[in-house]
Amino acid sequence: MAKVTPSRQQYLDFKAQFPDAIVMFRLGDFYEMFDDDAELAARELDLVLTGRPVSKGERVPMCGVPHHAVEGYIARLVEKGYHVAVIEQVGSEPVNGLTPRAVSRVITPGTVMEPGMLADTCHNYLLALAPEPDREGTSWAGVGLAYVDISTGEFAATQFNGNDTTMSVVEELARLEPREVLLPSSWAKNGVTLPAGSHLTPLPDYRCELGFARQTLHDHFGVSTLDGFGLQNQPLAVCAAGAILAYLQETQRSALAQLTGVRCYSTASFMMLDTATRRNLELVETIRDRSKRGSLLDVLDRTITPMGGRLLRTWIGQPLLSRDRLEARFDAVEALFEAGTTRAAVRDDLRKVSDLERLTNRLLAGRAGPRDLLALAASLETVPDLREAISRAAVLAPVADMLDPCADVVALVQAAIDDDTPATLNTSGVIRRGYAPDLDDVITASRSAKDWVANLETTERERTGIKSLKVGYNKVFGYYIEVSRANTERVPDDYIRKQTLVSSERYITPDLKEYESLILNAEERLLEIEERLFRDVCDRVLDHAESLLRTARALAHLDVFASLADVAAREDYVRPTLSDDDMLDIHDGRHPVVERMLHGQRFVPNDTHFDERERLHIITGPNMAGKSTIIRQVALIVLMAQIGSFVPASEATIGLADRIFTRIGAQDEIHAGQSTFMVEMVELALILSHATRRSLIILDEVGRGTSTYDGMAIARAVVEFLHNNPRLGSRTLFATHYHELTELAEILPGVENYNVVVAEDGENVVFLHRLMPGGADRSYGIHVARLAGIPKSVIKRAADILLELEASGGDFSVEKRETPDGPVQLSFFQADPDPVIEALRQLQIDEMSPLDAITILYELKRMIE
Ligand code: ADP
Ligand code: MG
Repeated sequence: MAKVTPSRQQYLDFKAQFPDAIVMFRLGDFYEMFDDDAELAARELDLVLTGRPVSKGERVPMCGVPHHAVEGYIARLVEKGYHVAVIEQVGSEPVNGLTPRAVSRVITPGTVMEPGMLADTCHNYLLALAPEPDREGTSWAGVGLAYVDISTGEFAATQFNGNDTTMSVVEELARLEPREVLLPSSWAKNGVTLPAGSHLTPLPDYRCELGFARQTLHDHFGVSTLDGFGLQNQPLAVCAAGAILAYLQETQRSALAQLTGVRCYSTASFMMLDTATRRNLELVETIRDRSKRGSLLDVLDRTITPMGGRLLRTWIGQPLLSRDRLEARFDAVEALFEAGTTRAAVRDDLRKVSDLERLTNRLLAGRAGPRDLLALAASLETVPDLREAISRAAVLAPVADMLDPCADVVALVQAAIDDDTPATLNTSGVIRRGYAPDLDDVITASRSAKDWVANLETTERERTGIKSLKVGYNKVFGYYIEVSRANTERVPDDYIRKQTLVSSERYITPDLKEYESLILNAEERLLEIEERLFRDVCDRVLDHAESLLRTARALAHLDVFASLADVAAREDYVRPTLSDDDMLDIHDGRHPVVERMLHGQRFVPNDTHFDERERLHIITGPNMAGKSTIIRQVALIVLMAQIGSFVPASEATIGLADRIFTRIGAQDEIHAGQSTFMVEMVELALILSHATRRSLIILDEVGRGTSTYDGMAIARAVVEFLHNNPRLGSRTLFATHYHELTELAEILPGVENYNVVVAEDGENVVFLHRLMPGGADRSYGIHVARLAGIPKSVIKRAADILLELEASGGDFSVEKRETPDGPVQLSFFQADPDPVIEALRQLQIDEMSPLDAITILYELKRMIE
């Protein structure tokens, strides 16, 4: 093969370092990509593919993007999950004919720092898993999990052991939704299912080994033991944390100063939510189009700062189990709920606060620009006002104490950075005049030199008497004096001829050269001094990094408290009473999302009550009555209470749930090739094996995925199991169209029937959305059919078949179906049963409150009229 050019060899050397990344190679004003990278980038970015000769007779594919637009192209590639390595030219002078180059950064989905590539209110997590195979090597005996958001400095690790390892990992993945997941390559090959939007990056196995990982952490944090982080006896967590850190060191090429510690956490301190439940309850996005609009987060999120937005999102994914911690949150929310003016003042002040958390981290990473410092100072300037605003609320004192106005930082930035500073250090004007005398001297000198040159034309015309003399500038020769050919005789002795044109001559003078070099050097010196001063300001600001980050955290909390208070006030929520038992008592509960979607229509509130005796509700009612809504609303109310939010009810006492499970049947989608029924059973199995008496279980139309009798049999068996198993007895809401299940209430003492009633208004069915004790009128479907105008004879026949089915206990034999004459025909002559009598027959008076009785009486009266 022919010998390649030196710059080609240089490229190949870099590419060998980053075989899995797209290498962008700076060539003059462009970043070029070659070979397979070029073809891929041309395809993904819609660029023109060209070629470049690399040796005698050989060309390789090439495509490029202009340097000023590179960020946008990198963002698009990273968004698609690619890694990009950027190779810059360093220095301006070629060495041995070759421009020196160096890797400036490697950008991967999980290591993005650039503000333009980050969503404000979402975390951008990089996560690593360090699995330990079990003895057979077929499954995981334990897994270490670590995650980091380098834009905020959050770094945490945990580990799972035992039977539930896989499930816990899946749940943490669902909670964190990492953008990038690191996994040892021997495991990556086994195929791991990641949440949508996550990208897998395989790592060499040794990177997850304990010795290597521990050393990496020791070196970075400058410690000799990890006990201070709580990581003793957590070897797998150490492996994962070390793997992440090593990966960051390789991609970031900076000191990673924002990572000041790693937090060891345990998932036992918060409510685990399985993937299905997160999805079904539409916590942060809807099932239908995966948008935030229409989710619980959407209703609760009235945060103002990006930090607050991220914190609220975290809280929703991580309900708490500790009553003390929750009461502390409620106290804070309540203080702002009750003091409307304070809340308004706090929210107004927060509008002036930028993303202090990410700003400080950019500063720590050495990536902050001059405008970042201004934003940081502006944010801090509001801190005294905020402290003042909340000073009267004693419960907010811990927050107020964490808020540090960092007056030194504000004063320094205001003194040092110009209000109209350019965005980057490539242009002068960053440092404010009067801040540094040496800088001002250079500026003054350069300004007087410029003045001198500006006046030169006038002074030289006077001195020489040549009226047409001109002073000009060009890139090659610099400043010159131009004299037309006719006047060249009259030029003074000190003029030095520099260039001859057709009709004129150009000259320089020693003075002109001197001022010129002053002007040109000044520009360079200016940039140099400004950069030095800027770095110095950054360093001095960073002396306060800890206070800044603590203040950022306090601001985020204040924002979330104020947001929750604001929502509570607007939407008429109440503070729930928490208890450490397995009761539940909700008065006039509402569905926080559905009630906002009704546009003018009134949402009908309903009560829910569980106690020692009443453990499981069977909820029946026709389609569209509101069954699904009520059971979800109970789950959401409990969840809201456990993140510290007021709840949509007139009164609520909530025994803290250790978990919330949901199983929502009949979603017409095929999960990864499994039948709906199979998915349903897998999820049910999970509930039955993990629920406790403290859990809350929501079952919607379970059993619908299979034929009626199978489904019903399973549904019934599930109810019996939940009711009878001593470990369970969980608070359960079971919405079902199987009326047969209502019989269970008579057999099982903890089971109660409820139904969502509807009324009839002339030709229309009116959905009252009212939950009443007792089972639903089972012939309701037929009733609705009559209202819809189905021929009388069909209705009649349907009613008879229903009667037969009931009589035979559901034995729908072929023989009976095929002989619609005989006794059946007789019934055509029987009068329709009176609907009022029928309704009376269905009443379960024992179960009714006086209020319910009155409502029903009114309804019956109306039916007669
Ligand atoms: P089901 O599960 O019984 O078929 P849904 O719970 O899906 O019924 O409710 C159907 C629709 O009825 C909802 O989309 C909502 O618009 C309305 N709805 C449900 N419950 C209420 C309520 N309590 N108040 C007002 N409207 C309601
Ligand atoms: Mg439903």
